[in-house]
Amino acid sequence: MPNPPTPSESTAPVHVIGAGPGGLATAAALARRGVRAVVVEKSPDVGASWRGHYERLRLHTTRRWSSLPGLPLPRSAGRWVARDDFVAYLEEYARHHRIDLAAGVEVFRIERAAETGDWSLTATGGRRLRASAVVVATGFNHTPHVPDWPGADGFAGELVHARSYRAPEPYRDRDVLVVGTGNTGAEIAAELAASGAGNVWLAVRTPPHIMRRATLGWPSQANAILCRRLPVGLVDRGARLLARTLPDLGPHGLPRPEAGLYTRVRQGAIPVLDRGLVRAVKRGRVRPVAALTAFEGERALLADGSELRPDVVIAATGYRRGLEPLVGHLGLLDGSGRPLVHGKQSHPAAPGLHFIGYTNPISGTLRELGYDAPKIATAVADHVTR
Ligand SMILES: Cc1cc2nc3c(=O)[nH]c(=O)nc-3n(C[C@H](O)[C@H](O)[C@H](O)COP(=O)(O)OP(=O)(O)OC[C@H]3O[C@@H](n4cnc5c(N)ncnc54)[C@H](O)[C@@H]3O)c2cc1C
Repeated sequence: MPNPPTPSESTAPVHVIGAGPGGLATAAALARRGVRAVVVEKSPDVGASWRGHYERLRLHTTRRWSSLPGLPLPRSAGRWVARDDFVAYLEEYARHHRIDLAAGVEVFRIERAAETGDWSLTATGGRRLRASAVVVATGFNHTPHVPDWPGADGFAGELVHARSYRAPEPYRDRDVLVVGTGNTGAEIAAELAASGAGNVWLAVRTPPHIMRRATLGWPSQANAILCRRLPVGLVDRGARLLARTLPDLGPHGLPRPEAGLYTRVRQGAIPVLDRGLVRAVKRGRVRPVAALTAFEGERALLADGSELRPDVVIAATGYRRGLEPLVGHLGLLDGSGRPLVHGKQSHPAAPGLHFIGYTNPISGTLRELGYDAPKIATAVADHVTR
């Protein structure tokens, strides 16, 4: 009697949408379980999000806790891995795991094929791809978000999202208002201030928690990992003590936040890991100002009634998941556009459809992707052999 067919021989392949770290780690984990997977990527190569980030970007998470399963980041990349080295690592990861990549193919919509229970993906060029299971890995930071500021259309200066920021040179001698105090806004403001921009202002709606990337060699990420399961109040108190090892920027217009660090994390605000902002604010090179509320001609109007005349406004105001066109019609998203189920779980209405990378954990997204990918692969392998 012939051997029973393996899933890869008898069924449509699993499709993983997105060749970022999440999609690649999932495809590698599927391969280890003998499941045939195709990674469909709209860009010409793997790691598109990382190729698009600003040049000076380095990981905030350590090399060890940023490596994906099955291939460590090389020692030569150092402890805080640079953007280019991370892109090179993703390329090597895909080669090492012989990932089957369909590059330049965007998936627009996912639908259930009622007759077979498979999935049908509508993709570039009117393609219809049949999939026995689907893993959506299109990224937490998918669609740049710029608030709908009144008067923005008529702003006489330049208004760009931080996604378009590459390097400080084009901003030399120009007055720049950076809006948003996440890690991206903080880093861009500090870099501009150190690289010959004119005035650099940082519009602050809610003051961020600022921590050192490492204290006496001990990375903040290690604290984050250790604290994850501790009571919120306890972590808030510990973080308050640690924050006092940095200068108080209150007199410079950036007070310490009232709400505790972990309380804010639970509301979705990740602390800023300092890479120059503290020094730049202390020296008056980055000047915190009130939140941006509107534009009028060449003026940017601020929440405290003051106004500025920046040449450029850089909106470091975050991203949206952008999942609505793909899966919105399947009823799988919550009110904020995030998947109702995540990781190894699939929604009862969508068996074999998984999401990876749609959380923003304080312990580091890359580390969590590395944990989620094998679990999803196991669930998918079960699904396709069932
Ligand atoms: C500036 C910045 C710095 C960060 N630094 C760190 C850090 O230091 N440590 C850490 O742990 N995390 C960090 N993160 C968070 C996270 O690790 C990264 O965003 C990471 O790239 C997430 O991987 P991903 O695979 O989920 O998404 P992405 O890397 O965004 O990959 C998604 C992929 O899907 C493709 N895609 C999207 N839509 C489609 C479609 N419809 N069809 C086909 N392909 C599609 C995209 O082109 C992209 O290649 C950072 C994030 C940002 C924005």
